[in-house]
Amino acid sequence: MKRVYLDYSATTPVKEEVVKEMIPYYTEMYGNPSSLYSEGLEAKGALDEARTRVAGLINAEPREIIFTSCGTEADNWVLEGVSDKLKNRGKHIITSKIEHHAILHTGEYLEKHGFDVTYLDVDSEGFVSPAALEAAIRDDTILVSIMMVNNEVGTIEPIKELAAVAKSHGILFHTDAVQALGNVPIDVKDLGVDFLSMSAHKIYGPKGVGALYMRRGLRISNFMHGGAQETKKRAGTENLAGIVGFGKAAELAEANLQSHIAHSTELRNYLWEKIEENISGVQLNGPKDRRHPGNLNVSFDYIEGESILLMLDAKGVSVSTGSACSSKSLVPSHVLDAIGVSITKMNGTVRFTVGDFTTKEDIDYVVEALKEVVDKLRELSPVTGQEGW
Ligand code: PLP
Repeated sequence: MKRVYLDYSATTPVKEEVVKEMIPYYTEMYGNPSSLYSEGLEAKGALDEARTRVAGLINAEPREIIFTSCGTEADNWVLEGVSDKLKNRGKHIITSKIEHHAILHTGEYLEKHGFDVTYLDVDSEGFVSPAALEAAIRDDTILVSIMMVNNEVGTIEPIKELAAVAKSHGILFHTDAVQALGNVPIDVKDLGVDFLSMSAHKIYGPKGVGALYMRRGLRISNFMHGGAQETKKRAGTENLAGIVGFGKAAELAEANLQSHIAHSTELRNYLWEKIEENISGVQLNGPKDRRHPGNLNVSFDYIEGESILLMLDAKGVSVSTGSACSSKSLVPSHVLDAIGVSITKMNGTVRFTVGDFTTKEDIDYVVEALKEVVDKLRELSPVTGQEGW
């Protein structure tokens, strides 16, 4: 049976060119980058090359890139590392209500340890307003953390404006750019951010590798304690093959950025056009413009997103009902809640994300399957056509 994968925001397939560059670092060039003999030096060279490539994708300097085990670690590190370092200056952090759980749960953890966290509201399209940020700043605010692109509804936040507000008060600014990387142009110098989190597996690289951009000259408390790796900022023997893969994926993402954006946008728009044309009772969640090029988040009236997901899976189509990490939970999406989607619409919501390997034929196949699934479920639904849905 044909399979169509439309969940690129959960993870992406690793590109062949990436796998090809990684393999020798398992088989032949397996040295530890900290070793001083030839194999180690070779490994260190590969690590530095990957660092340069990742830095290139966001216009950073190589020394401003520190490799981590994932985007989640980078997010945890910034919040906990800044809090620990600056706790004598203040204990207030500002973030938003629509962040990934890697930020929200770290915020909750810090609240249990005496910090005060403000979760900013967003508007009906998911935008954080610079004026709301300005109003939330206090004398004891030490960090602002706002995501660059939302993982559920695709909102591209006004990071440059938000970072400028934080900067005007001398407050550090972090952005979780896990969904933004490779999907929107990123220039850390132009944006004026102090920290930026990244992950390889969202840009056709391997899972289990991430990085933190830390602006030159900044120093926060370490998250991992141990050896002197990553200029003593992040202990632990580096995942060399994974990092090499991240480097290659970053190089490809930089080279293909415009064509990737154009391809994703075209297919995402085509998908929405076809859904609107063929299926009634649908609602687009999130912004029309300033949106992740591959993201489409749709509520289907009268039916459950979970049922749509399972029945589409049986027809060979992979989609998601929320963010990957919470898709096994029945808790309604905190993001849809924050943008004001009603609980009934929330329950009937599906996230489709297209990417480099998606074709127009795939979309035609998906819309046909989706129409069948939605018709079938609505036939069975006891509330079809009832008031209040
Ligand atoms: N931040 C955002 C916005 C994400 O979408 C994700 C993953 O879905 C993460 C952080 C976590 O990244 P990782 O899977 O590398 O830990």
